[in-house]
Amino acid sequence: MNNSLFRLPPAENEPVRSYAPGSPERLNLKAELERTLKGGFDLPIVIGGKEIRTGSTSALIRPDARGTVLGRYHLAGETEARAAVEAALAARRAWEGMPWEERAAVFRRAAALAAGEYRPRLVAATMLGQSKTAQQAEIDVCEAIDFFRFNPVFMESIYSLQSASLADEWNSVSYRPLEGFVYAVSPFNFTAIAANLASAPAMMGNVVVWKPASTSVLSNYFLMRLYEEAGLPPGVINFVPGKGSAISGVVLARPELAGLHFTGSTEVFRQLWKGMADHLPAYRTYPRIVGETGGKNFILVDPSADPEVALVAAARGAFEYQGQKCSAASRLYVPSSMGKVFLDKLADLIKILPMGEVTDFRNFAGAVIDEASFDSIAAYIERAKSSAKARILAGGRCDKSKGFFIEPTLIRALDPHYETMEVELFGPVLSAYVYDDGDMEAAYRLVDSTSPYGLTGSVIARDRGAIEAASRALSGAAGNFYVNDKPTGAVVGRQPFGGARATGTNDKAGGPLNLLRWASPRALKENLDPPRDWRYPYMGEA
Ligand code: NAD
Repeated sequence: MNNSLFRLPPAENEPVRSYAPGSPERLNLKAELERTLKGGFDLPIVIGGKEIRTGSTSALIRPDARGTVLGRYHLAGETEARAAVEAALAARRAWEGMPWEERAAVFRRAAALAAGEYRPRLVAATMLGQSKTAQQAEIDVCEAIDFFRFNPVFMESIYSLQSASLADEWNSVSYRPLEGFVYAVSPFNFTAIAANLASAPAMMGNVVVWKPASTSVLSNYFLMRLYEEAGLPPGVINFVPGKGSAISGVVLARPELAGLHFTGSTEVFRQLWKGMADHLPAYRTYPRIVGETGGKNFILVDPSADPEVALVAAARGAFEYQGQKCSAASRLYVPSSMGKVFLDKLADLIKILPMGEVTDFRNFAGAVIDEASFDSIAAYIERAKSSAKARILAGGRCDKSKGFFIEPTLIRALDPHYETMEVELFGPVLSAYVYDDGDMEAAYRLVDSTSPYGLTGSVIARDRGAIEAASRALSGAAGNFYVNDKPTGAVVGRQPFGGARATGTNDKAGGPLNLLRWASPRALKENLDPPRDWRYPYMGEA
């Protein structure tokens, strides 16, 4: 470990392909979509490198064509959870003892595979399993590649953080993996997040039990295959799709639990944290808790804003991937001086966003992830239709007959605390409030205090003073703050991602800070000229 002579090349972000008509990537992807649509998948659990089929299965369905069953996956229960922990612990010594360059090599190879032969498979699985358009699925897979490329470089930079030495004293810091295993629990919405949650701790020498979300098992399974093909030793990452509560019941009770790497809803994160608190006295080490959860992300349009910039930021920021990005804009503040004209234009723009099956490349939006999500979002829209405090300005139709389709919807809230201005809906719904631009300090206070979250936010303004004032007043409101841009689309290595307040621990995936959480430093001092006399000089006779 800590071989300072070794230097990785600087990482570069994977270029996002266009999939424009006639492009080779489009042809490849279409062929892969056809292959994937043939279905018949029978996806196993993977523990200690071995495939396990429990016979208790769940269907892999397409959210945007709910009648299409792509196959099934086997569900892990308590027995498999126990086996996964044992397999991880069995792999631990050899993996943590492996020089870091070797660990880095596995994930750099994974990046090469994901950028090459695995790319169409990962993009197609993300499209069909998670209902992403080709563009959104490509961005997602590029982000996964970026995690695999940048994290080794961050790892090297962490290992190079060393203490000063003296002529007769040699100091160093070694960045040990955590003593135990890490529990990675991933959300459905990004294949890249699933990739990072399991691979970042593993890269730092940890062993991992990974529970993927039930609605992203197809793409996540291909990630597992990718790790194996890249040379990851068996047991370092164990893939256990299944019911979260059953798996957590086993995992959280293990004294060797050394970390939780979570992304998902606030409620589940709090449940897991509480579960860990209950077992605290039994743990051998205080488990690291890294969690990113919900958001109620804002766009504040300043009176000095270029309206066209604000319109595009709102439409893209709120409706790409049907608003199911954790960073998606879901509350919009429009100055009274722009009010109705701006909202009318935004409504016109939203009405033309094409929605439908993601296999039809003309579509901008697909379906929401599943029926529970559909029902929950549709209920908010129905309430808004009959509320005196809200007006639907665009969209509002919901139809789950063929797929879980919810039209991109714009709600004008007449009360700044109307429920859709405050609650995370996690769907294609943007709520707008027209604020009094005669009092910007009051507007900043409103934006800052409306939501318990602190994930992303944008200010759209031309006036430099306004940008500076908003940035200062809203410094606690967003872990990722954007100026004249949509609040989504953070890029690994350029905008490390995460939020504080009710959102999460803000440990910034896509930057070195996250990796540091998966190391337990040991400071080592060697005395090169140890004393042989116990007396100190001051003790001499006066
Ligand atoms: P979710 O909380 O429903 O599920 C997340 C994961 O937790 C899934 O794997 C699920 O199966 C699992 N789970 C549920 N109960 C569990 C339990 N008791 N023990 C262990 N695992 C359990 O979230 P989701 O619907 O997959 O994702 C959407 C949410 O994630 C939104 O709130 C969104 O804002 C958030 N999110 C946040 C970020 C971020 O970086 N802040 C990124 C992506 C998603």
